[in-house]
Amino acid sequence: MRAFECDDGGLRVVFGTGTLGRLREELDRLGGRRALVLSTPRRGELVSRVVAGLGGAAAGVFDGAVMHTPVEVTEAALARAAELGADSVVSAGGGTTTGLGKAVAHRLGVPHVVLPTTYAGSEVTPVLGETSEGRKTTTTDPAIRPDTVIYDVSLTMGLPWPVTVTSAVNSMAHAVEALYAPGRTGATDRMATGSIAALATGLRRLPGDPEEARVELLYGAYLAGLCLGAVGMGLHHKLCHTLGGSFGLPHAPLHTVVLPYAMDYNAPAAPDAMRAVADALGVADAPAGLQRFARSLGAPADLAGLGFAAADVDRAAGLATERPYPNPRPVTRDGVADLLRRALTGQSIGGPR
Ligand code: NAD
Repeated sequence: MRAFECDDGGLRVVFGTGTLGRLREELDRLGGRRALVLSTPRRGELVSRVVAGLGGAAAGVFDGAVMHTPVEVTEAALARAAELGADSVVSAGGGTTTGLGKAVAHRLGVPHVVLPTTYAGSEVTPVLGETSEGRKTTTTDPAIRPDTVIYDVSLTMGLPWPVTVTSAVNSMAHAVEALYAPGRTGATDRMATGSIAALATGLRRLPGDPEEARVELLYGAYLAGLCLGAVGMGLHHKLCHTLGGSFGLPHAPLHTVVLPYAMDYNAPAAPDAMRAVADALGVADAPAGLQRFARSLGAPADLAGLGFAAADVDRAAGLATERPYPNPRPVTRDGVADLLRRALTGQSIGGPR
């Protein structure tokens, strides 16, 4: 069992099983006395455990977090924080809850503790994506990064299988793109390959050995989150950002469908990265191998099934190529439109190159 705690440049991490029991102590460390507890709807059992873990330091709950952090939801949570006189924020949930926690804690300038329950990785990044009037904008600021992350494997044990698979592939996407990011270093490469291997091992082991598998998955997600926070992302993340923010597609399933196609697009220009991904995954060809692996686990295969339509392709390709950004292979509108058409119908990616 992996269990550790560390302080890394202002980010404190406590990792283990049963670490929810450390919540009050960690909030005390940050000077929090009246925490606003955040969650998505219908996570009552989790919220009760968190409130109990706060032992009197819970000011109240806001359980209305919504994916892609719409600003009107943030405003409602801020009103709740004011009404309760909250002096800190505790986010318990996946990336949706963490996003709301970042938005609220950053605006109020109060301490933020996160208890992740998916593999999104947002809890260790200084990045906040918010949506307003159908557009998603991203802010990066070291002050956005939460103060303390308590990874408690036991909080992930009940994550439903479909969410587990898509969330783990979403996490892999951070590591994959870190392997061809312009700012990558030997350290980020090691974190990225370690993350992909841990996530793949976790997914393979889950049916037979759920406890050890969940440790691997959460550890892999932590490493992938560090990659996401350390280097800039390329085509895959920009495209998913557009499709999620402007077309309302669900975050992790969207990443799961798109990632193999984005890898296939970049593969000719990033052969070393693809070799590293293939080795970490234990497959011959990274894009095709990942697609087959995800599909063998029951992952969604096409964008049409997520609500994307052929009529949306041109607008999405236009939005995703509005501004240039670093990517191993030049990003063209036609190239992105072609990628989207393949992903729309779930075209199989070919065999070993
Ligand atoms: P999510 O937080 O929306 O969770 C998915 C669903 O699973 C929700 O209904 C949630 O209530 C439920 N759930 C979560 N954990 C559970 C558990 N342990 N047991 C049972 N149900 C559980 O999804 P996500 O994919 O984790 O997060 C997506 C959001 O995170 C998006 O808005 C995305 O933009 C953001 N994100 C941001 C960053 C960043 O660095 N800023 C990184 C990754 C993701």
